[in-house]
Amino acid sequence: MKITDVIPHVMIGKTDPYSTWAADFVDDRYSMVVEIKTDEGVTGWGESVCHGRQPGSVSAAYITHVFKPLLLGKSPFDVEVLWENMYHSSRPFGGGGAVNAMSGIDVALWDIIGKTLGRPIHQLIGGAFRLEVMPYATSFYRKEGRNYPEAYVEEAMELIKDGFRAFKLKTGYGLKKDSEYIHAMREAIGPDMLLAADANCAYDAPLTRQLLLEVEDAKLHFMEEPMKTDDIEGYKMLRNMTGTHLACGENLFTKYDFRRWIVEGAVDILQPDICSAGGITECKKIAAIAQAYATRVIPHVWGTGIGLAAALQVIASLPSNHLSQFVAEPMLEFDRSTHPFRDAVIKEKIGMEKGVVRVPMGPGIGVEVNEDAVREFEAQTV
Ligand code: MG
Repeated sequence: MKITDVIPHVMIGKTDPYSTWAADFVDDRYSMVVEIKTDEGVTGWGESVCHGRQPGSVSAAYITHVFKPLLLGKSPFDVEVLWENMYHSSRPFGGGGAVNAMSGIDVALWDIIGKTLGRPIHQLIGGAFRLEVMPYATSFYRKEGRNYPEAYVEEAMELIKDGFRAFKLKTGYGLKKDSEYIHAMREAIGPDMLLAADANCAYDAPLTRQLLLEVEDAKLHFMEEPMKTDDIEGYKMLRNMTGTHLACGENLFTKYDFRRWIVEGAVDILQPDICSAGGITECKKIAAIAQAYATRVIPHVWGTGIGLAAALQVIASLPSNHLSQFVAEPMLEFDRSTHPFRDAVIKEKIGMEKGVVRVPMGPGIGVEVNEDAVREFEAQTV
Protein backbone atom coordinates (compact mmCIF):
# COMPACT_ATOMS: atom_id res chain seq x y z
CA MET A 1 0.00 0.00 0.00
CA LYS A 2 1.34 3.42 -0.97
CA ILE A 3 0.32 6.98 -0.12
CA THR A 4 -0.85 8.77 -3.27
CA ASP A 5 -2.05 12.13 -1.96
CA VAL A 6 -2.04 14.25 1.21
CA ILE A 7 -4.67 16.98 1.23
CA PRO A 8 -4.96 19.58 4.01
CA HIS A 9 -8.43 21.08 4.47
CA VAL A 10 -8.42 24.45 6.26
CA MET A 11 -11.78 24.87 7.94
CA ILE A 12 -13.45 27.91 9.45
CA GLY A 13 -16.90 28.72 10.81
CA LYS A 14 -18.42 31.72 12.53
CA THR A 15 -19.74 31.77 16.09
CA ASP A 16 -21.00 34.43 18.48
CA PRO A 17 -18.04 36.29 19.99
CA TYR A 18 -16.79 34.42 23.04
CA SER A 19 -13.69 34.30 25.17
CA THR A 20 -11.81 31.02 24.99
CA TRP A 21 -9.17 32.48 27.24
CA ALA A 22 -8.78 35.56 29.36
CA ALA A 23 -6.78 37.59 26.84
CA ASP A 24 -9.13 37.75 23.89
CA PHE A 25 -12.55 37.34 22.32
CA VAL A 26 -12.90 35.31 19.14
CA ASP A 27 -15.84 34.90 16.76
CA ASP A 28 -14.78 31.92 14.70
CA ARG A 29 -13.54 28.35 15.06
CA TYR A 30 -10.74 27.01 12.93
CA SER A 31 -9.49 23.53 12.23
CA MET A 32 -7.14 21.80 9.83
CA VAL A 33 -8.37 18.40 8.75
CA VAL A 34 -6.02 16.24 6.71
CA GLU A 35 -7.04 13.60 4.18
CA ILE A 36 -4.54 10.95 3.04
CA LYS A 37 -5.30 8.79 0.00
CA THR A 38 -3.71 5.44 -0.94
CA ASP A 39 -3.35 3.35 -4.07
CA GLU A 40 -5.65 0.71 -2.55
CA GLY A 41 -8.60 3.07 -2.26
CA VAL A 42 -8.40 3.44 1.54
CA THR A 43 -8.55 7.05 2.74
CA GLY A 44 -7.51 8.22 6.20
CA TRP A 45 -8.55 11.36 8.09
CA GLY A 46 -6.81 13.25 10.86
CA GLU A 47 -6.91 16.65 12.51
CA SER A 48 -4.41 19.26 13.65
CA VAL A 49 -6.14 21.18 16.41
CA CYS A 50 -6.44 24.96 16.15
CA HIS A 51 -6.74 27.02 19.33
CA GLY A 52 -8.60 30.34 19.58
CA ARG A 53 -6.78 32.45 17.02
CA GLN A 54 -4.55 29.83 15.44
CA PRO A 55 -5.47 29.56 11.75
CA GLY A 56 -5.35 26.15 10.11
CA SER A 57 -3.42 27.57 7.18
CA VAL A 58 -0.18 27.30 9.21
CA SER A 59 -0.33 23.52 9.64
CA ALA A 60 -1.68 23.19 6.07
CA ALA A 61 1.42 24.97 4.74
CA TYR A 62 3.70 22.55 6.61
CA ILE A 63 1.84 19.64 5.04
CA THR A 64 1.92 21.02 1.52
CA HIS A 65 5.51 22.23 1.50
CA VAL A 66 7.37 19.97 3.96
CA PHE A 67 5.56 16.71 4.73
CA LYS A 68 3.61 15.76 1.60
CA PRO A 69 6.78 15.28 -0.51
CA LEU A 70 8.14 12.98 2.23
CA LEU A 71 5.00 10.88 2.39
CA LEU A 72 4.12 10.27 -1.27
CA GLY A 73 4.90 6.70 -2.31
CA LYS A 74 5.48 5.52 1.29
CA SER A 75 3.49 2.87 3.19
CA PRO A 76 1.06 4.15 5.87
CA PHE A 77 2.04 1.07 7.92
CA ASP A 78 5.49 2.66 8.41
CA VAL A 79 3.77 5.21 10.63
CA GLU A 80 6.53 5.48 13.25
CA VAL A 81 9.27 5.62 10.59
CA LEU A 82 7.37 8.41 8.86
CA TRP A 83 6.91 10.24 12.18
CA GLU A 84 10.67 10.29 12.78
CA ASN A 85 11.35 11.40 9.21
CA MET A 86 8.86 14.25 9.49
CA TYR A 87 10.20 15.32 12.89
CA HIS A 88 13.82 15.42 11.82
CA SER A 89 13.01 17.17 8.54
CA SER A 90 11.10 19.94 10.32
CA ARG A 91 13.41 20.44 13.31
CA PRO A 92 15.24 23.39 11.67
CA PHE A 93 11.96 25.35 11.83
CA GLY A 94 12.38 25.37 15.61
CA GLY A 95 9.01 23.87 16.45
CA GLY A 96 6.64 26.59 15.30
CA GLY A 97 3.69 24.41 14.38
CA ALA A 98 5.40 21.52 12.62
CA VAL A 99 4.48 18.97 15.31
CA ASN A 100 0.90 20.24 15.29
CA ALA A 101 0.76 19.52 11.54
CA MET A 102 2.45 16.13 11.95
CA SER A 103 -0.19 15.17 14.51
CA GLY A 104 -3.00 15.35 11.94
CA ILE A 105 -0.97 13.25 9.51
CA ASP A 106 -0.21 10.65 12.18
CA VAL A 107 -3.89 10.30 13.09
CA ALA A 108 -4.78 9.92 9.39
CA LEU A 109 -2.13 7.20 8.95
CA TRP A 110 -3.52 5.26 11.92
CA ASP A 111 -7.01 5.73 10.44
CA ILE A 112 -5.78 4.07 7.21
CA ILE A 113 -4.17 1.19 9.15
CA GLY A 114 -7.35 0.61 11.15
CA LYS A 115 -9.59 0.78 8.11
CA THR A 116 -7.33 -1.63 6.20
CA LEU A 117 -7.43 -4.15 9.06
CA GLY A 118 -11.09 -3.52 9.91
CA ARG A 119 -10.26 -2.57 13.52
CA PRO A 120 -10.66 0.53 15.68
CA ILE A 121 -7.26 2.02 16.48
CA HIS A 122 -7.36 1.16 20.20
CA GLN A 123 -7.28 -2.54 19.25
CA LEU A 124 -3.99 -1.91 17.43
CA ILE A 125 -2.22 0.03 20.19
CA GLY A 126 -2.69 -2.30 23.14
CA GLY A 127 -6.43 -2.72 23.49
CA ALA A 128 -9.11 -1.14 25.65
CA PHE A 129 -8.70 -0.66 29.39
CA ARG A 130 -12.12 0.98 29.11
CA LEU A 131 -14.78 1.51 26.45
CA GLU A 132 -16.74 4.09 28.44
CA VAL A 133 -15.11 7.32 29.55
CA MET A 134 -16.38 9.88 32.04
CA PRO A 135 -16.40 13.28 30.35
CA TYR A 136 -15.75 16.60 31.98
CA ALA A 137 -17.50 19.58 30.46
CA THR A 138 -15.26 22.30 29.12
CA SER A 139 -17.55 25.25 28.74
CA PHE A 140 -18.41 28.45 30.58
CA TYR A 141 -16.82 30.68 27.96
CA ARG A 142 -17.28 34.38 28.57
CA LYS A 143 -19.71 36.15 26.29
CA GLU A 144 -20.45 39.86 26.33
CA GLY A 145 -23.72 40.75 28.02
CA ARG A 146 -23.99 37.61 30.15
CA ASN A 147 -24.31 38.01 33.90
CA TYR A 148 -21.27 36.84 35.75
CA PRO A 149 -21.16 34.42 37.56
CA GLU A 150 -24.94 33.82 37.57
CA ALA A 151 -25.20 32.79 33.91
CA TYR A 152 -22.39 30.28 34.37
CA VAL A 153 -23.94 28.75 37.46
CA GLU A 154 -27.13 28.32 35.41
CA GLU A 155 -25.10 26.67 32.64
CA ALA A 156 -23.64 24.23 35.18
CA MET A 157 -27.13 23.35 36.40
CA GLU A 158 -28.17 22.54 32.82
CA LEU A 159 -25.07 20.38 32.36
CA ILE A 160 -25.86 18.50 35.58
CA LYS A 161 -29.37 17.81 34.21
CA ASP A 162 -27.68 16.39 31.09
CA GLY A 163 -25.69 13.99 33.30
CA PHE A 164 -22.36 15.74 33.69
CA ARG A 165 -20.50 15.27 36.98
CA ALA A 166 -17.30 17.17 36.18
CA PHE A 167 -16.70 20.72 34.97
CA LYS A 168 -13.84 22.97 34.00
CA LEU A 169 -14.17 26.72 34.38
CA LYS A 170 -12.44 29.43 32.39
CA THR A 171 -10.45 31.59 34.77
CA GLY A 172 -7.59 34.04 34.44
CA TYR A 173 -9.75 37.16 34.83
CA GLY A 174 -8.08 38.46 38.00
CA LEU A 175 -7.77 36.96 41.47
CA LYS A 176 -10.89 38.56 42.97
CA LYS A 177 -13.16 37.57 40.07
CA ASP A 178 -11.69 34.08 39.80
CA SER A 179 -11.96 33.45 43.53
CA GLU A 180 -15.60 34.62 43.65
CA TYR A 181 -16.42 32.57 40.57
CA ILE A 182 -14.86 29.33 41.82
CA HIS A 183 -16.52 29.69 45.23
CA ALA A 184 -19.93 30.52 43.67
CA MET A 185 -19.72 27.51 41.40
CA ARG A 186 -18.67 25.12 44.17
CA GLU A 187 -21.51 26.31 46.38
CA ALA A 188 -24.00 25.84 43.52
CA ILE A 189 -22.93 22.37 42.36
CA GLY A 190 -22.25 20.91 45.82
CA PRO A 191 -19.28 18.97 47.17
CA ASP A 192 -19.57 15.79 45.10
CA MET A 193 -19.02 17.16 41.59
CA LEU A 194 -15.53 17.48 40.14
CA LEU A 195 -14.59 21.11 39.57
CA ALA A 196 -11.44 22.18 37.72
CA ALA A 197 -10.20 25.54 36.47
CA ASP A 198 -8.11 26.63 33.50
CA ALA A 199 -6.34 29.99 33.46
CA ASN A 200 -4.68 29.61 30.04
CA CYS A 201 -1.33 30.87 31.37
CA ALA A 202 -2.81 34.15 32.68
CA TYR A 203 -0.78 34.38 35.91
CA ASP A 204 2.74 34.22 37.24
CA ALA A 205 3.80 32.03 40.16
CA PRO A 206 3.12 34.55 43.01
CA LEU A 207 -0.41 35.29 41.73
CA THR A 208 -1.12 31.60 41.22
CA ARG A 209 0.03 30.87 44.76
CA GLN A 210 -2.33 33.53 46.08
CA LEU A 211 -5.26 32.24 44.00
CA LEU A 212 -4.74 28.61 45.00
CA LEU A 213 -4.60 29.57 48.69
CA GLU A 214 -7.80 31.63 48.36
CA VAL A 215 -9.76 28.80 46.69
CA GLU A 216 -8.31 25.90 48.67
CA ASP A 217 -11.66 25.35 50.42
CA ALA A 218 -13.41 24.95 47.03
CA LYS A 219 -11.36 21.77 46.47
CA LEU A 220 -10.47 22.10 42.81
CA HIS A 221 -9.85 18.75 41.13
CA PHE A 222 -7.03 20.40 39.19
CA MET A 223 -5.75 23.83 38.17
CA GLU A 224 -4.80 23.88 34.49
CA GLU A 225 -2.11 26.12 33.03
CA PRO A 226 -2.12 28.80 35.72
CA MET A 227 1.20 29.99 34.26
CA LYS A 228 2.90 29.82 30.90
CA THR A 229 4.76 26.59 30.30
CA ASP A 230 8.07 28.42 29.89
CA ASP A 231 8.10 28.60 33.69
CA ILE A 232 8.71 25.01 34.73
CA GLU A 233 10.44 26.27 37.91
CA GLY A 234 7.27 28.12 38.88
CA TYR A 235 5.21 24.94 38.50
CA LYS A 236 7.71 22.95 40.58
CA MET A 237 7.64 25.56 43.35
CA LEU A 238 3.83 25.63 43.42
CA ARG A 239 3.51 21.85 43.36
CA ASN A 240 5.54 21.73 46.56
CA MET A 241 3.26 24.19 48.39
CA THR A 242 -0.27 23.36 47.22
CA GLY A 243 -2.54 20.37 47.62
CA THR A 244 -4.35 21.35 44.41
CA HIS A 245 -3.25 19.22 41.50
CA LEU A 246 -1.48 21.15 38.76
CA ALA A 247 -2.06 20.27 35.10
CA CYS A 248 -0.66 21.33 31.75
CA GLY A 249 0.14 19.93 28.33
CA GLU A 250 -1.75 21.65 25.52
CA ASN A 251 1.31 23.84 24.93
CA LEU A 252 3.85 21.01 25.13
CA PHE A 253 4.90 18.93 22.13
CA THR A 254 6.61 15.56 21.60
CA LYS A 255 8.12 13.13 24.09
CA TYR A 256 11.05 15.51 24.50
CA ASP A 257 8.96 18.35 25.97
CA PHE A 258 6.93 15.99 28.13
CA ARG A 259 9.99 14.02 29.31
CA ARG A 260 11.33 17.08 31.09
CA TRP A 261 8.02 17.91 32.82
CA ILE A 262 7.54 14.27 33.86
CA VAL A 263 11.09 13.62 35.08
CA GLU A 264 11.24 16.91 36.99
CA GLY A 265 7.89 16.23 38.64
CA ALA A 266 6.52 19.65 37.67
CA VAL A 267 2.82 18.72 37.43
CA ASP A 268 0.37 16.12 38.72
CA ILE A 269 -1.63 15.71 35.49
CA LEU A 270 -0.34 15.79 31.91
CA GLN A 271 -2.64 16.95 29.13
CA PRO A 272 -1.09 16.10 25.74
CA ASP A 273 -3.37 16.88 22.80
CA ILE A 274 -3.43 13.90 20.40
CA CYS A 275 -3.98 16.36 17.53
CA SER A 276 -1.09 18.66 18.48
CA ALA A 277 1.51 16.95 20.70
CA GLY A 278 2.56 14.51 17.97
CA GLY A 279 -0.43 12.30 17.15
CA ILE A 280 -1.26 8.80 18.33
CA THR A 281 2.27 7.46 17.83
CA GLU A 282 3.84 10.13 20.02
CA CYS A 283 1.12 10.33 22.67
CA LYS A 284 1.46 6.59 23.37
CA LYS A 285 5.15 7.22 24.08
CA ILE A 286 4.36 10.24 26.26
CA ALA A 287 1.88 8.07 28.18
CA ALA A 288 4.54 5.38 28.65
CA ILE A 289 7.02 7.85 30.16
CA ALA A 290 4.22 9.23 32.35
CA GLN A 291 3.32 5.72 33.54
CA ALA A 292 6.94 5.01 34.48
CA TYR A 293 6.85 8.11 36.70
CA ALA A 294 3.32 7.46 38.03
CA THR A 295 2.01 10.67 36.50
CA ARG A 296 -1.61 10.85 35.38
CA VAL A 297 -2.62 11.61 31.78
CA ILE A 298 -5.90 13.33 30.87
CA PRO A 299 -5.57 14.39 27.21
CA HIS A 300 -6.48 17.87 26.06
CA VAL A 301 -9.27 17.75 23.45
CA TRP A 302 -10.58 20.82 21.64
CA GLY A 303 -11.14 20.01 18.00
CA THR A 304 -13.84 18.59 15.76
CA GLY A 305 -15.43 15.16 15.94
CA ILE A 306 -12.40 13.75 14.08
CA GLY A 307 -10.01 14.79 16.85
CA LEU A 308 -12.53 13.74 19.50
CA ALA A 309 -12.77 10.24 18.01
CA ALA A 310 -8.96 9.95 17.80
CA ALA A 311 -8.62 11.07 21.43
CA LEU A 312 -11.13 8.43 22.56
CA GLN A 313 -9.10 5.73 20.77
CA VAL A 314 -6.03 6.74 22.79
CA ILE A 315 -7.91 7.22 26.08
CA ALA A 316 -9.26 3.66 25.73
CA SER A 317 -5.68 2.38 25.66
CA LEU A 318 -4.25 4.37 28.60
CA PRO A 319 -3.40 2.18 31.59
CA SER A 320 -4.41 3.31 35.07
CA ASN A 321 -1.55 4.04 37.39
CA HIS A 322 -2.67 1.63 40.08
CA LEU A 323 -5.19 -1.12 40.67
CA SER A 324 -7.58 -0.69 43.56
CA GLN A 325 -11.23 -0.05 44.28
CA PHE A 326 -10.44 3.63 43.86
CA VAL A 327 -8.77 4.10 40.50
CA ALA A 328 -8.11 7.51 39.00
CA GLU A 329 -9.27 6.76 35.46
CA PRO A 330 -8.49 9.12 32.59
CA MET A 331 -11.35 11.47 31.75
CA LEU A 332 -12.46 12.92 28.41
CA GLU A 333 -12.29 16.68 27.94
CA PHE A 334 -15.67 17.30 26.28
CA ASP A 335 -15.99 20.77 24.79
CA ARG A 336 -19.58 21.94 25.19
CA SER A 337 -19.19 25.37 23.60
CA THR A 338 -20.95 26.17 20.35
CA HIS A 339 -19.00 24.97 17.35
CA PRO A 340 -20.16 25.40 13.75
CA PHE A 341 -18.85 22.07 12.45
CA ARG A 342 -17.66 19.89 15.38
CA ASP A 343 -20.48 17.37 14.93
CA ALA A 344 -21.07 17.97 11.23
CA VAL A 345 -17.70 16.59 10.07
CA ILE A 346 -18.50 13.07 11.30
CA LYS A 347 -21.48 10.95 10.32
CA GLU A 348 -22.17 9.48 13.78
CA LYS A 349 -22.29 12.16 16.47
CA ILE A 350 -20.25 11.40 19.60
CA GLY A 351 -22.42 12.20 22.59
CA MET A 352 -22.80 11.44 26.27
CA GLU A 353 -25.27 8.84 27.50
CA LYS A 354 -25.92 8.04 31.15
CA GLY A 355 -22.89 10.06 32.21
CA VAL A 356 -20.35 8.39 29.91
CA VAL A 357 -19.04 8.74 26.35
CA ARG A 358 -18.48 5.47 24.52
CA VAL A 359 -15.31 4.83 22.53
CA PRO A 360 -16.36 4.61 18.85
CA MET A 361 -15.94 1.05 17.52
CA GLY A 362 -15.79 1.57 13.75
CA PRO A 363 -12.51 0.87 11.93
CA GLY A 364 -9.73 3.45 12.24
CA ILE A 365 -10.69 6.48 14.35
CA GLY A 366 -14.03 4.77 14.83
CA VAL A 367 -16.29 7.17 12.93
CA GLU A 368 -16.86 8.03 9.28
CA VAL A 369 -16.03 11.50 8.04
CA ASN A 370 -18.73 13.58 6.36
CA GLU A 371 -16.83 14.87 3.35
CA ASP A 372 -19.68 17.18 2.32
CA ALA A 373 -19.38 19.00 5.65
CA VAL A 374 -15.60 19.26 5.28
CA ARG A 375 -16.13 20.92 1.90
CA GLU A 376 -18.93 23.13 3.22
CA PHE A 377 -16.73 24.66 5.92
CA GLU A 378 -13.49 24.66 3.95
CA ALA A 379 -11.96 28.13 3.77
CA GLN A 380 -11.93 29.44 0.23
CA THR A 381 -8.75 31.45 0.73
CA VAL A 382 -5.96 30.73 3.18
MG1 MG B 1 -6.59 24.64 28.53
